[in-house]
Amino acid sequence: MIKSFISRVFGRGAKQAAHPSKPVVYGPDKHHIRKDHISRGARKTCEELQRAGHTAYVVGGAVRDLILGRRPKDFDVATSAHPDDVRSLFRRSRIIGRRFQIVHVMFGAETVEVSTYRAHFTTKDPEADDDEKDRQDVHGRVLSDNVFGTQAEDAVRRDFTVNALFYDPVKEEVWDYQHGVKDLVARKLVMIGDPATRYREDPVRMLRAARLSAKLGLTIDPKTAAPIRELRHLLENVPQARLFEEILKMLLSGNAVACVQRLRDLELHHGLLPLLDDSLEDAATGPFAMAALKATDDRLREDKPVSPAFLLAALLWGRVERRWHELEEKGQPSTPSLHSAMHDALDAQRESLAIPRRFDATMKELWLLQPRFLQRGGTRPFRLLEHPRFRAAYDFFELRAQAGNAPLEIAHWWEKFQDASGEERSRMLQADDGPKKKKRRRRGGKRRPEDGGSPEEVAPGADE
Ligand code: ATP
Ligand code: MG
Repeated sequence: MIKSFISRVFGRGAKQAAHPSKPVVYGPDKHHIRKDHISRGARKTCEELQRAGHTAYVVGGAVRDLILGRRPKDFDVATSAHPDDVRSLFRRSRIIGRRFQIVHVMFGAETVEVSTYRAHFTTKDPEADDDEKDRQDVHGRVLSDNVFGTQAEDAVRRDFTVNALFYDPVKEEVWDYQHGVKDLVARKLVMIGDPATRYREDPVRMLRAARLSAKLGLTIDPKTAAPIRELRHLLENVPQARLFEEILKMLLSGNAVACVQRLRDLELHHGLLPLLDDSLEDAATGPFAMAALKATDDRLREDKPVSPAFLLAALLWGRVERRWHELEEKGQPSTPSLHSAMHDALDAQRESLAIPRRFDATMKELWLLQPRFLQRGGTRPFRLLEHPRFRAAYDFFELRAQAGNAPLEIAHWWEKFQDASGEERSRMLQADDGPKKKKRRRRGGKRRPEDGGSPEEVAPGADE
């Protein structure tokens, strides 16, 4: 339906073929984006910049999303004005970034990212001196691209044609230098320029191809998809933090399941992204990891908050659980085994794709609370209910149960127990067969080896 709508609206616009330096301009009668679809901040920013004699457009993902009839996440502005000029025009603004300066302009709670038109860096440039060649690593990855340029050049340096559209909220025109509209109508994701070169410049574009095609329901153009298999190893050279950020964007895109499918189609998940690879392929916990991705997609669709730590904990659970049981089988007591397994899983993960440490505490808490759902006697269930992380840990347990990774009957018991009256709860309690309270060691007494980790580490799984 959308396809026929946009082809009807845009179909008549392209009187002239797009040329890299000459745009096709779609007037307000040729498309359905109106200025009131643009956030107040982005609109005002463009108006103010234009009033001061500059050109200024909403650019990138927002224009693409509006053409597709989707609500954009945020609105970025591209302008001919230099960062210093932008800064001096807006009282509430600040210049950020060292490598390439952009300006954040604040309007109430909204922050509009304003960037000056930039040129696409290429070493094919005969003028390129040694300094410029230093801007690429040995694989062709661009390390610095700090060159201002024209609007046409700013279109060329973007990744996909559908991401290179400009919208002028004053004249209500769409400016298209790269056939972006045509590709959107055809539902195609097409790389600007030579795809292999563009992946070498920035290997993250391979992941963006997977994410954007999944999110927007676009087919990756065969020429754009073709070099990926051969170049996927280049993702190994991308700084960990950038890689993690992109993976998190995928997981929290609202289309995580579709993204994973695209990654598999492009063979991008194997080896390079062990976080997804191992967790989804593990026979025992793979269905749970997939269920967690799906639950995250569903929550985002319902505008409910989602926690990255929850999802990461779910993706790593397979490894934690396997190691936990291995250690138990070797005769280590259960709780210290779980502690060791958690540390091992996080250490192993850090060797491939480091999850920032800020997520550790929540992930560990979710894991440590899991065995406590099995204890349904005495005062234990009441203490678990009072735990500040109970809700998330219960959701985790319930998802595990739904995916066959924990007893469903126990998940149902907890569902009932939470809402039951005091009397009902007492009736529901089972014989107290949980781990017994540890006897206090006598001062100076010898510690038995099976006691495992430090007392505070043992606490959450045992009877605290
Ligand atoms: P999303 O909807 O997820 O925000 P997006 O396309 O807007 O998708 P951003 O990361 O917000 O993605 O990037 C904004 C714009 O910057 C893109 O539309 C694209 O034009 C350009 N861009 C982003 N990343 C790259 C890249 N790696 N190479 C070239 N251009 C890029
Ligand atoms: Mg964006």
